[in-house]
Amino acid sequence: MNSRGDSGADVAIVGAGLTGCLLACYLARRGERVRLFERRADPRLTGAERGRSINLALSERGLDALRRIGLEHAVLADALPMRGRMIHPAGDPDGELDFQPYSADGERAINSISRGALNNALLDAAQALPEVEVFFEHRLDRFDPATGALCFDTPTGPVRPEAAVVLGADGAGSAVRGELLRHDATTETLDFLDYGYKELTIPAVGGEFALDPGALHIWPRGRSMMIALPNPDRSFTCTLFWPTSGTASFASLSSPAAVQRYFAEQYPDVVPLVPDLVTEYRENPVGLLGTVQCAPWQTGGRVCLLGDAAHAIVPFYGQGANCAFEDVVVLDACLDRTGGDWSAALPLFDAERRADTEAIAQMALANFVEMRDKVASPAFKLGKRVEHA
Ligand code: FAD
Repeated sequence: MNSRGDSGADVAIVGAGLTGCLLACYLARRGERVRLFERRADPRLTGAERGRSINLALSERGLDALRRIGLEHAVLADALPMRGRMIHPAGDPDGELDFQPYSADGERAINSISRGALNNALLDAAQALPEVEVFFEHRLDRFDPATGALCFDTPTGPVRPEAAVVLGADGAGSAVRGELLRHDATTETLDFLDYGYKELTIPAVGGEFALDPGALHIWPRGRSMMIALPNPDRSFTCTLFWPTSGTASFASLSSPAAVQRYFAEQYPDVVPLVPDLVTEYRENPVGLLGTVQCAPWQTGGRVCLLGDAAHAIVPFYGQGANCAFEDVVVLDACLDRTGGDWSAALPLFDAERRADTEAIAQMALANFVEMRDKVASPAFKLGKRVEHA
């Protein structure tokens, strides 16, 4: 029984990523019947999707959401705490590194965690609950917000379920949001940066980390930067955040010699650590970076967007997934406050949550300038306390 005293609404969640899986866990605990639809095959069987960030930084905001349903310890088992950021200076491969702790006592950390492992842990948790059914290889194609009628493409043809409540947790390119737009039920603004990202790997050396695993590493280079986060297999994943066009951009480095030359000049200490530099640089995709805003998130008290589908942000504050997790906590609280009445809870969520997500979107944009430029300034070296990544 749920908080209304009946046997629960019939909730469809589109997207079994980080947001959708955590949402399913929270709603099942309320006694809601949940169907979770995911376009991919089961990632626990097929492995991670290529082209997505391999790891991410999980901080207190996200941990709090996991702790409330007893998942914190399972998720943190494979996490690597990063107690500060390590600045790699330009020019000199033997230049002095500058460690800037995240807290005055040096104890507080953000956690590097595998996106795939986190998603799998949340899927396991959701699927273990009897209220949750998961459907893989179901790609939302059409949706009528007025009736709750959904249409999914599947390997065996279209499937057309209906649901009393539909929650869109299908990421920045949300199909649910697309359908709300098509039915004039929302408006959206997409702001893409003229920067993209590309990942490279620093493998373990002799079975050990090639860099200090207790830090988030940053190579600030003024207009652009590279960062690296540690992985449990003792490798690091580097992410280049570079302009997409113009000089010193992804577009301008077209030949292997140009790639080698540029890295030797800008990231000299990294060159010996990335044995497959040219191959990875040429083969790994360039991802887009942007901010998604849309309003309203909910319509008719029965359809709502959460996580990146509602408010994707640039990754420079390391807060996209953390905020998506916090969305779930806030929606759960809205359901508490309205006695589990979705038609009241969804407008309340939309009204109360929006300002916080707009604030973090602005802070994430501002932190790009801090990370790629200001962290190298003497003010930070003199021990100025740094808030976050
Ligand atoms: P997604 O992770 O995009 O999941 C959406 C799910 O919906 C996917 O499983 C997808 O397959 C499914 N789906 C999509 N379309 C359909 C459809 N039509 N039908 C059915 N299913 C569908 N955040 C942090 O907190 N810390 C970090 O350090 C961090 N680093 C990042 C680094 C980079 C380079 C990037 C790009 C992002 C980073 N983020 C970070 C942000 C974080 O990745 C996102 O905020 C988070 O993944 C959002 O989760 P989500 O579940 O809302 O969306």
